[in-house]
Amino acid sequence: MDLTHSPADEAFRAEARAWLASHVPAAPLPSLETEEGFAAHRTWEAELAADRWSVVSWPAEYGGRDAGLMRWLIFEEEYYAARAPGRVSQNGIHLLAPTLFDHGTEEQRSRVLPPMARGEVVWAQAWSEPEAGSDLASLRSRAVRTDGGWCLSGQKTWSSRAAFADRAFGLFRSEPEAPRHQGLIYLMFDLRAPGVTVRPIHRLDGKPAFAELFLDEVFVPDEDVIGEPGEGWRIAMSTAGNERGLTLRSPGRYLAAADRLVELWRERGCPVRVQDRVADAVIGARAYQLFTYAGASRFLQGEPLGPESSMNKVFWSEYDIALHETALDLLGEEGELADTDWAEGYVFSLAGPLYAGANEIQRDIIAERLLGLPKGRR
Ligand SMILES: Cc1cc2nc3c(=O)[nH]c(=O)nc-3n(C[C@H](O)[C@H](O)[C@H](O)COP(=O)(O)OP(=O)(O)OC[C@H]3O[C@@H](n4cnc5c(N)ncnc54)[C@H](O)[C@@H]3O)c2cc1C
Repeated sequence: MDLTHSPADEAFRAEARAWLASHVPAAPLPSLETEEGFAAHRTWEAELAADRWSVVSWPAEYGGRDAGLMRWLIFEEEYYAARAPGRVSQNGIHLLAPTLFDHGTEEQRSRVLPPMARGEVVWAQAWSEPEAGSDLASLRSRAVRTDGGWCLSGQKTWSSRAAFADRAFGLFRSEPEAPRHQGLIYLMFDLRAPGVTVRPIHRLDGKPAFAELFLDEVFVPDEDVIGEPGEGWRIAMSTAGNERGLTLRSPGRYLAAADRLVELWRERGCPVRVQDRVADAVIGARAYQLFTYAGASRFLQGEPLGPESSMNKVFWSEYDIALHETALDLLGEEGELADTDWAEGYVFSLAGPLYAGANEIQRDIIAERLLGLPKGRR
């Protein structure tokens, strides 16, 4: 594989770098897990979109630059190196949008994608339920056929940023008698529709980063069903591959984080006791970058992402914890007491092995589908 970028790709990188240098806010925005921060991040999405930087890989007709996967990876490297704000629209951009590209109708794409790209409609993921997390197929919320659409009832939980988001996409049981993985429907609904109650769940730091959704006969028109009713599981698994694999955690994030860790280590007088862990963080970020580039180039040659995305998931979630632990070690007491990015990042990193599919399950997928080992006992 040729690891040098073409002159056109490097020109794209330079253009992105220059734009970010003149637009990234000088002071960090308030946390996007708060009402004030959420609003500020929406404004940032609109600013990105005005110059078509919010969804660079999408077709131009929906607000993108037709830039493709490799240039998206380049953009992400520049984005994180510039310390630009977190993306409030990430659920929509990285999960719902790829689903609509693969399974939606042209009408759905042209209605849903442009306002998503501008941050006008922010999406929440409504998959998990109190009894359906890792075992998602045991979900019980239902969709019942009605005139011109479907009627939703049930409860969803752990929906990130649903406390402030506008709409949600989720899985519902439309054929109660069908086997667990069949008879599910994938659809979009309005978080402010009659019958929806959104109850925020506060994190340990008090921020309402999640919400529970209570749904009582919520009407969803046929136009908001993605794919065929009953096909929800198959569609959701293509979304999950995106979440675990390339899109949710691009290597740019870790290359930038490893650089920041080296900076911190230097500021703290280059203590020898952690130098190996700092070096591991740099090597890990670079290894993940190369692994991702290799996966992306296979994907561009027509191979599906497949179970390899589970390897990405296990790697980035464990890497993130180790990197933040090293930073907190360097910061000492200050790391635990002050409200620093490192402290917030550390707390969030602890959730990495759980969300986007728990790591135990990812290891099972790697063992069975990549290594061909026998099925474990469950
Ligand atoms: C930060 C964060 C953000 C999230 N955002 C969203 C969101 O926006 N939308 C949404 O729908 N959900 C979201 N979730 C929920 C997330 O998808 C679930 O937490 C996840 O699927 C795990 O489910 P659970 O919490 O019910 O844990 P469980 O499934 O009960 O798992 C508990 C433990 O048991 C282990 N375990 C379970 N089954 C097996 C098995 N078969 N083999 C081996 N070990 C097993 C798990 O690995 C885990 O360690 C979020 C979660 C977090 C932490």
